Amino acid sequence: MRPFVQKKVRSIAPSQLLHSSAKTAVSQTRPDTPAWRLAVASLFHLHVQGVRVSVQDMNDLQAQAAVQTLSLLRWVACFSVPLHLAAAWWFGSADRLPMQPDELAWAQGLVRVHWGSAVIVTLMVLWVTYAFRRVGMRPFTAIAMQIAVTCLYIFLAALISLNGIRAGTGTASTFMLVCMTVGTLSPLRPALAFPLFTLTFFLFAQTVEWVHGSALSMAPLRFNLVTTYLVVLLVSGVVWRYYAHMMVLHKNLSDLAEHDALTGLFNRRFITQRTQDALGSARRKGCDTHIIMIDIDFFKTINDTHGHPGGDMVLQKFGALLLDSVRETDVVARWGGEEFMVLLPDTSPENAVALAERLRLRLFECRWIYESTTVVVTASFGVSGVPAKQEGGIDALFAAADRALYRAKQQGRNQVLYEACACPSAPSAFQQLRRGT
Ligand code: GH3
Ligand code: MG
Ligand code: MG
Repeated sequence: MRPFVQKKVRSIAPSQLLHSSAKTAVSQTRPDTPAWRLAVASLFHLHVQGVRVSVQDMNDLQAQAAVQTLSLLRWVACFSVPLHLAAAWWFGSADRLPMQPDELAWAQGLVRVHWGSAVIVTLMVLWVTYAFRRVGMRPFTAIAMQIAVTCLYIFLAALISLNGIRAGTGTASTFMLVCMTVGTLSPLRPALAFPLFTLTFFLFAQTVEWVHGSALSMAPLRFNLVTTYLVVLLVSGVVWRYYAHMMVLHKNLSDLAEHDALTGLFNRRFITQRTQDALGSARRKGCDTHIIMIDIDFFKTINDTHGHPGGDMVLQKFGALLLDSVRETDVVARWGGEEFMVLLPDTSPENAVALAERLRLRLFECRWIYESTTVVVTASFGVSGVPAKQEGGIDALFAAADRALYRAKQQGRNQVLYEACACPSAPSAFQQLRRGT
């Protein structure tokens, strides 16, 4: 699994949060755009709730679609490989039936194609399984594999149809059926689907002209191919639109479920889950996990002095300051009200306390201006952690950090206090009171 990366951009207004995505912004459609331009644009772009999804989002969506298609391939192979083997066996024993020579040639060709297909599909599944085992498949690799697998399936179907056409016994129905299935099961954005299917149908039509026997009339076949080509493009476009729409809505919903609307930081539920995961992986790897609980001092007074909007500004600025001061692998969340929490995976007690002290000083030195008035803010910090290889439950960890924070408040605020999770009588160095300057 790829390491979790904290999102650094957090200065999103709550109203924008619905449409915020992991790496990119979405661009709003101008209200004065003429209807015909909107109609044309909607053919090539995706609009979710009136907001246009950017090119980068489209690339991300295509990479997700690729991974899902490749996972689906294993299920499709479970169905198609036995089918190919059964077809190879059936047509292999067809010479027992009374057959014309051209029919026999057709049956023998099918045996070869179905054997080949069974082998090729099995190799594809092994290739995909191997690629999935490698950590962090790159988006480009996934998309390239999706296109390769899609093309291979169409190629095998074309071989089956061409074998029948060459023998003068078959039609192009297998090719057309597989193109429809692939267009449905493998979501491809129009920029990929259009050239892929256009080239595929063009090459197939050319090859048919080249190999077709006198028994086969080209006119109905041409008509069927053109109709299928248009239907495949339509199906692929509709599938992509539906898929992308669902994925964008899903992304927006998980953003809402994981983030705090005011600060854009992660919320309490998310960081609790991340702490649980971090404790599990720290136990396996044998490293320390620490947390810092933070509570802004006299926040009620800030609200009373500068008003609620002033207090909101302080919360947003403080959230941004925290994000700006931690590593990418650390997680910052708004715990609730004017309380924040930082999760520090793989961090020693010394480093956790040093970071908390740095945060305290940075905040102490900040001079934020709200409506021409300077707002001076301080906060109290409770640090706790579970040392390497030591058992420590999440509740005990939170309770220890909370106790340290409570004592920091009791002992005068604007300071950092440490309390070890499993052994409350922790090293005295971390029990020291660190008074503000
Ligand atoms: P202490 O130093 O002991 O922590 O005192 P405090 O005033 O910071 O703590 P207290 O718990 O008494 O007050 C917290 C205040 O934070 C009360 C609440 O109205 C305010 N608050 C909670 N959430 C928000 C918010 O989203 N925006 C604003 N502006 N204020 C909030
Ligand atoms: Mg509080
Ligand atoms: Mg407070």
